[in-house]
Amino acid sequence: MLGFFKDRQRKQLRARPFPDEWLKIIKRNVAFFARLPEKDKTELLEHVQVFLAEKNFEGCAEQEITDEVRITIAAQACLLLLHRKTDYFPRLLTILVYPSTYLADEQRPITADIWEEGKSARAGETERTMGSMVLAWDAVKWGAADPSDGKNVVLHEFAHQLDYENLSADGTPALLTRKQQLAWREVMRTEFASLRAAEATGIPTLLDTYGATNAAEFFAVSIEAFFERPVMLRSQHPRLYVEFHNYFRQDPVEFSAERMRNA
Ligand SMILES: [Zn+2]
Repeated sequence: MLGFFKDRQRKQLRARPFPDEWLKIIKRNVAFFARLPEKDKTELLEHVQVFLAEKNFEGCAEQEITDEVRITIAAQACLLLLHRKTDYFPRLLTILVYPSTYLADEQRPITADIWEEGKSARAGETERTMGSMVLAWDAVKWGAADPSDGKNVVLHEFAHQLDYENLSADGTPALLTRKQQLAWREVMRTEFASLRAAEATGIPTLLDTYGATNAAEFFAVSIEAFFERPVMLRSQHPRLYVEFHNYFRQDPVEFSAERMRNA
């Protein structure tokens, strides 16, 4: 019954007229939007309405939560929801926004047995069980302004949220069929191993070598590449591209700004 009411409420939210002021913010800040097919633009704006109604935003370190902040984050996150049935990142309740890249305590492995504790600069983070996400507003804006540099902190952190939908942080989101799961695991295992090998030998890679940390980070950096460097990803990692294409039911090659960048 709860599901029925939730679905009905979301349907009503999606049908609301999209405020002009909000659309102006998206057009000004979120570069990929202008390149999307018209149908996808409409779908994205509908998702943004639900997203904004359901998620809480909190400003940290004197960051003000304005419409610009909420909408610039929501529009990027909702790109990950197009073309398939979605429950709108159900494990995420609150987005904490800092003005700029912030320092966090971190434990880093030096060898298998020795850990170094220190401060590291971060643009965002999220966790499976906390129901929250942290984003740095400056990094959010840079990510939105350049749609083809391969870096987007919002896509990265929300990719983690998709990963959590099947309850584990293992680089595998909720896939529909057993066949899809088997294919996914096989491709991810091979591609992850080759990124680790490339990182160890210092060979330059399309995928950010931060993805060699573990399977969950591999998934998140690969999603950044899928939406921001799809032409290169499809040519260098065709099997990875196919799995993402099947999962997202999107073909970012069609709307990517990447070709213009390389031209
Ligand atoms: Zn990550």
